[in-house]
Amino acid sequence: MTAPLDSLLADADLCVKCGLCSPHCPTYRLTADENESPRGRIALIQGWASGRLPLTAALRAPLDDCLLCRNCESVCPAKVPYGKIMDRFRSETGQSHKPLATRAVSAAVRSGLRSPALSRLGRKALGGIGGLLGDTSWKALASELPPPGDPAAWYGKHPAAPSTAHVGLFLGCTAAAADAATVAAILKLLPALGVSVTVPEAQACCGAMDLHAGNTATAHSLIARNIEAFSSLALDAVIGFASGCGATLQEYAQHSSAPGAEPFSAQVTDISRFLAERVPEELWNFAPLDARVLVHNPCSLRNVCKGEGSVEKLLGKIPGLTVSTLPGKGRCCGAAGSYMVEHREMAEAIRAETIEAILAANPDYLVSSNIGCALHLRAGLRRLADIPVIHPVQLLARLQRI
Ligand code: SF4
Ligand code: SF4
Repeated sequence: MTAPLDSLLADADLCVKCGLCSPHCPTYRLTADENESPRGRIALIQGWASGRLPLTAALRAPLDDCLLCRNCESVCPAKVPYGKIMDRFRSETGQSHKPLATRAVSAAVRSGLRSPALSRLGRKALGGIGGLLGDTSWKALASELPPPGDPAAWYGKHPAAPSTAHVGLFLGCTAAAADAATVAAILKLLPALGVSVTVPEAQACCGAMDLHAGNTATAHSLIARNIEAFSSLALDAVIGFASGCGATLQEYAQHSSAPGAEPFSAQVTDISRFLAERVPEELWNFAPLDARVLVHNPCSLRNVCKGEGSVEKLLGKIPGLTVSTLPGKGRCCGAAGSYMVEHREMAEAIRAETIEAILAANPDYLVSSNIGCALHLRAGLRRLADIPVIHPVQLLARLQRI
């Protein structure tokens, strides 16, 4: 163990085991198993941290099954810091208990996504992951991906004239491989609204995958790199467009004591929240669109970025567009970053309820603010319905008269 566990126990002991969070937990809803509930997991961690329970495979399994969606945290009346507890537990116990094949796939996913060369290959990289998993749906999904982006074309300053604000754009691992269209939309839209954008070349992966897997040293080095990449730029905000990454950036100060972590985290905001809060009403000038759009609010956007409602507010400005929110408030889609790869069966079982709700609504577009969720939902909708799943900023950029 790297440090005394008193602070972990103090956080876990805040849980009064009321069970109010259980109906909001995707794994408990699916399994009805108390060990797969938030209070069950906290009890297991308390047992281990106080020396009463050994670290066996049986103890680890339900803790590994947690998606870290933090739905439990958002409804907890006792304000139990569930995400902090689980990250600390994983950091203390590592991944050595997992089968070699699982660890190899996880490492391949993490380094594959982080490698600029592999990211540029886009569909080939994703197809390779599918091949590793023997999963034809990933291979098929990879074949449907748009052409990869070239980050070299994004780096540097994209000035607005006149400029009323200056933001830094955080790309994240998947931008080049799977979400180049959203980057293009942001670089077109923001300067047209008077917001200069700088994309620092020195930025790195946000560190979420390593933090949640307990690879603390790697996560800390990524955190330090990102703080350094953005801190010297005199920015009004650091913008994320994948809420999973944005949530991690917003909590750097919680995860690391690196110099500048706190002011960096305070500057981070989700693109939709930034646009909804900072762009004056008179600058919006949308062409009409006669269509129905369904909004998926990812757990990271709701529970950490506090950006829920921003997408609906922005899209509601488009004449003719009917905007509704995916029913089942607080429902997790099962993606959870690399969870959809490492816990494929559970991720797909959790996704089923969301896919059912999307099919019932039958929208012309589904928008999601997190690329991981979008990929997972796209894969689930394959062969069932022809519903494009895109980032909301793509619709805004397409319809704003520039
Ligand atoms: S985590 Fe919060 S809501 Fe859940 S059982 Fe504990 S005290 Fe109750
Ligand atoms: S983070 Fe999500 S999956 Fe994990 S215990 Fe909380 S609600 Fe359940």
